Amino acid sequence: MLVRSEFFTEADGEPVAVENAGGKGEVLLVCEHASPRMPERYGDLGLSEEALNSHIAWDPGAFAVARLMSKSLDATLIYQRFSRLIYDCNRPPESPAAIRDVSEIFRIPGNENLSEAERSRRTTALYMPFHGRIREEIAARRARGQGTVFVTIHSFTPVYFGRERPVEIGILHDADSRLADRMLRAASDTRLYRVERNEPYGPADGVTHTLEAHALPAGLLNVMIEIRNDLIADETGQGVAADFLTGLLRESLADVQG
Ligand SMILES: [Zn+2]
Repeated sequence: MLVRSEFFTEADGEPVAVENAGGKGEVLLVCEHASPRMPERYGDLGLSEEALNSHIAWDPGAFAVARLMSKSLDATLIYQRFSRLIYDCNRPPESPAAIRDVSEIFRIPGNENLSEAERSRRTTALYMPFHGRIREEIAARRARGQGTVFVTIHSFTPVYFGRERPVEIGILHDADSRLADRMLRAASDTRLYRVERNEPYGPADGVTHTLEAHALPAGLLNVMIEIRNDLIADETGQGVAADFLTGLLRESLADVQG
């Protein structure tokens, strides 16, 4: 059994954090790629400063938007405090993408040729407590009669393998598209963003793990939201996106539940 202090230093702190823990809203926000922070003992994995701050390490802007939505929706927000370079919490332990040794155009030396023991150490330190905390939260809400609408917030890079991505907001879903369908309908006449279904990637790419793990088995309304990160690089952009998505969620929930 991994002792937490063997993985994290005191300065690192806890892997999982919760914002607005007592939020009364029914939306539960989750941000798996909130931070580029590395656990002290892992250093830089042999990466440049540029790579360590890029989209391969985190979803720039996503946490800031999630935080604003947490306020406007009075929603509890659960997020991972460490970089997905160490473990990508939106991937199950058996997925090769949980710990990548190559991400887009970057080689990640510190992730090459990992032993099973090291993979399992990272899974225990980062993935297990994160998903455990989400499970506890959903169970506690059910116990006190608070509904849960499960929403994950991500951002994506505008240029991937040299190709520009025209989509600006992706509304992603797995087998249960009830909420996503309403959101896409509500967004169909907006001039603010180019909004598309399951873009720039979708369930076939393995990106809906968190939805599959928590929302689908419990029959919770759910959606995964992807925002192009150049649109949320500053506070103004983050505010506009958060307002837009808050409005879209409110309207769509009234529709699906009404
Ligand atoms: Zn993400």
